[in-house]
Formats: sequence, C-alpha cells, structure tokens
Amino acid sequence: MDTPRACPECGAAWQDGRTCQDDFHQMLFWEAEFPEYGIVHHLTVLCYHMQHPSLYSPETLAEGKRMLADFLAGTPPSEMRRRMRDRVDSGRRSWKVTGTEDAHGAYERPVRWTMTARDVVVAGADRYVESVRAWARSMYDALAASGNL
Ligand SMILES: [Zn+2]
Repeated sequence: MDTPRACPECGAAWQDGRTCQDDFHQMLFWEAEFPEYGIVHHLTVLCYHMQHPSLYSPETLAEGKRMLADFLAGTPPSEMRRRMRDRVDSGRRSWKVTGTEDAHGAYERPVRWTMTARDVVVAGADRYVESVRAWARSMYDALAASGNL
C-alpha cells in the first residue's frame, strides 16, 4: 500500500514518504543535540499531539487546549507540572491520557492549520526555538478561528 501524500490528521504534505512522526522525531533529535532547545520541549510535544488529536483521549485534548492557552500566556512548564500533579493527587483525574481506537480526541469543527511539524523542520535547526513558538501561536489562532476553543 502506498503511503498517503498528506497527513490525514493535520493535513501536512508528506513528501518522499516522510511523515509527521518523522518530523516530530527530527525535532526531538535537535533537542537532544542542542540542550538549550529544551526550553520549548513542552510546546513541541503539546503541538504535535494536538495536531494529531487521535493520539490523545478526548479529555486530554480538552486539557491540551487549556495548556496551550496557559503556555502562550506565559505559564512556565514547572508551574503547569505542579498544577497537573495537584489534580492527579486529588484523585480527580479519572481519564486516560492517550487515545484509543474507541475513545480519542477530535475537533468539533474542522481546523485549517497554518503551520505544521513540517514547517518547523523545513525552517531548520537554527530557527527551531522561534519556529516552535510561532507554531504554538499559530495553532491557538487556528483553533480560535475555527471555533474550537
Ligand atoms: Zn500530521
């Protein structure tokens, strides 16, 4: 079977069989190669999963939207981890983090993403940090524009 030419989830064009997962791995590789790039690791992971919402459970996708907004508002990852821990410790989290075939995240309305993992990788390692920040911002704007927030 041929590999599809575009991602069924985020819509990015897949050239030469290169998938979004390959791009995600390239980003993680850059983060390992340049430890200072770890400053945007939380955004990279969140953005990649939110553009491929079937990887998340419905509850985690809803949580992800809040996290994206909070990160863009300047909440540091350490603060976010503390909040998540409080919630988990209080026993209120009764959902699964990852999506399954039967229960996974999906957007209520179609989203037209203006940036994808592909764009971050194409922009190159030198611009990685600013690209990931622009990616996160563009995603928030696309979710707002499509009425998914
Ligand atoms: Zn994709």
